[in-house]
This record gives sequence, C-alpha cells and structure tokens, in this order.
Amino acid sequence: MTAAYLHIPFCDHICFYCDFNKVFLEGQPVDEYVDMVIQEMAIMKERHPNEKVETFYIGGGTPTTLTASQMEKLLIGIQTYFPMEKGSEFTVEANPESISFDKFKVLKEYGVNRISMGVQSFNDAILKKIGRIHTSDQVYECVKMAQKAGFDNMSIDLIFRLPTQTLADFSETLDRALELDLPHYSVYSLILENKTIFYNLMRQGKLPLPSEDEEADMYALVMERMAKAGREHYEISNYAKPGYQSQHNLAYWRNENYFGFGAGAHGYIEGKRYSNNGPIQHYLEPLRKKESPILYQKELTPLNVIEEELMLGLRTMKGVNRSHFQQKFNEPVEKYYADEIESLIKRELLMVEDDFLRLTQKGKYLGNEVFQKFLFN
Ligand code: SF4
Repeated sequence: MTAAYLHIPFCDHICFYCDFNKVFLEGQPVDEYVDMVIQEMAIMKERHPNEKVETFYIGGGTPTTLTASQMEKLLIGIQTYFPMEKGSEFTVEANPESISFDKFKVLKEYGVNRISMGVQSFNDAILKKIGRIHTSDQVYECVKMAQKAGFDNMSIDLIFRLPTQTLADFSETLDRALELDLPHYSVYSLILENKTIFYNLMRQGKLPLPSEDEEADMYALVMERMAKAGREHYEISNYAKPGYQSQHNLAYWRNENYFGFGAGAHGYIEGKRYSNNGPIQHYLEPLRKKESPILYQKELTPLNVIEEELMLGLRTMKGVNRSHFQQKFNEPVEKYYADEIESLIKRELLMVEDDFLRLTQKGKYLGNEVFQKFLFN
C-alpha cells in the first residue's frame, strides 16, 4: 500500500504551541505554490509510474486557507497524477475559521471523503490562550456545513494539558466533542516544542500547565469517555467507531510507503526516507526549473527498518505481530530485543497477548519511554 501526504504551509494566525512547517498567509505566493506542488507530483509520477496511491491526506499549516478555486486546481492536479479508486480514503484538514460551504462543496466534488477538523478545545477562553482564532460556535457551524455538503466521515483534534486547563474544563470539552457524535477523535497531550511561544513562556516560568498527575487523569478520562461512547482506542491518541480508523495514519504506523508533497514534507518510498526543502522559496526554486525539491534522502539500513517497525507498531493498541515480524525479517523479534522486552514486561509496560507485543494500560501513559527502548544506538 502507498499513501500520500500533501502539505499546505499557510496559516492565517500562528498558534502558540505549534512547531509545524508553516508561515503567515499574508503576502505568500499561494497561487505559485499550488502550481509548483502540482509540478512536484508530475515529477514524482514520472519517477514512480507504477506506484498507486491508496490514501491521500492534505494537511498543514491550514489547507482551508486556499480559496475554493485554488483548492479546485490542486484537486484536479491530484486527480491527474495520482488518481485513486473510488471510495479510497481522502482526507483534508479544515479549520473552522477558514472553511466555507463553497470550499466543502469543491472538496466533495473532487473525491474528498473525510474531514479532519482542528478544534483543540470547546472552551473559548482557553482557545484564546493558545492562540487559536476560532470559537466553539464556529466548530458547530463547520460541522453542520460539512454535513450539509455530504460529509459523514469526520474527525476532530483535541488537546489536553493546556495552560490553566482543569480536569473539569477538559471533561466539558470531551462532552461537547462527543455530543457531535463524530466517528473519529484524535486527542493529544500538549507537547512543548522548541522555538514555540509556549516553550519560551515555560522557560520564563510563565506557563501555568496542569501537573503530570492531572495530565495522567486527563488521559485516563479520554480513554474512559471514548470507550463509553463506543470509540475504539486504536492508537495512543486516536479513537474511532468500528470501520472508521484512519487508513492513512494506519499506513504510517504499519511502516508502509508514502509520498510527501509540499514544503518540508517527508516521504518513504522504496526503502528511502526523504524530506523536501522547508522554507517556501527554497521549495519553489528547484520546481521552477522542473527539478525535484528533495533536500535530504536516506536509504534505511535493515536495523533502521526493524526499529521503525517496533516504534511505529507499538503506537497502535493492537501492537506488533510476532509472527508477521518473523516472516518479514526472518528472525524472531526477541533476537533483536530480548533484554528490552523482558525488562519492559517486568515493569508491566509491555505484554505479549495473542502473539502480539503490545503496550499495557500502564505502558500507554509512558509510551515514549517504551518506544525509546527500541532504538538501536
Ligand atoms: S496549529 Fe495548525 S493552525 Fe495553528 S499555527 Fe500550527 S499549523 Fe497553523
């Protein structure tokens, strides 16, 4: 299976916690960017004529900062170079403040069948504190518009451990989110990334974050509420109704091939990881000469592939299938990680169940600690 990710790096505001590759929209060469990203797809198609894309994901940045006609042009470009079979999962990220019914209609017309909405919280005061410019009312309008345009497969992103957030606040946000009765929810804990406004505030002692215990209580609450609402916990931060797991993300976690198009995008094709130039002008420059914008490319060693198999597979609640591992690498997983597995099982962070190596309930809270153990130095 091959997936494709396409990055739109423009945002009409900058959130205080965000370290994604993005720029402020005003004054950016958006039309040229759309043309050049189509050019990039043309180059990749020529290099990999037999690669068939089975899931597509347009993310950002904020894809919905594109106008309806820019979006239409982009979607026609995708259809031209990487057409997918009818019904294949095609997701676009939408932000409540920049979407419109016309844009939803264009998305629908060109085969988009899944919307992932950046909501983060239903508390307007908290939204302001994290630099978002939408309100919870706009989220409701956005969901209604999407449904009117014919979308039923929708997901929303939420974040917990936000400044001044209490367990009661977060519980309220979960209630509002579940009332919408969407098939999919992604719920993340805030990560303080270098070079963000929040990181600087934290260093100055000016970021009143919930404690680690409160963060753990919030995660426990998400798992409990989602289970009660019939959303299966299928990856550390993702919950879905049966049949609505994100096929695109599952492709990442299964370590499958994927194209990455756009400024700063990453890809993994034919055993090589690659990444594109990040700054917009550096990305556009080679494409103006019909050259590839790839900045960095690395062939993975067999050990790299094995560590990624474990690190990615353990993110899913199903875990890593031991027989599948043995088939793929001709050796049992214990050949590479006997000591790590034994010690993680002793610490009750990992378990073997139905031939799968998977996180225990305790392990879900300490996922990063577990994943790191599988890195070869
Ligand atoms: S979180 Fe999303 S909307 Fe906010 S700055 Fe980052 S990419 Fe833009």
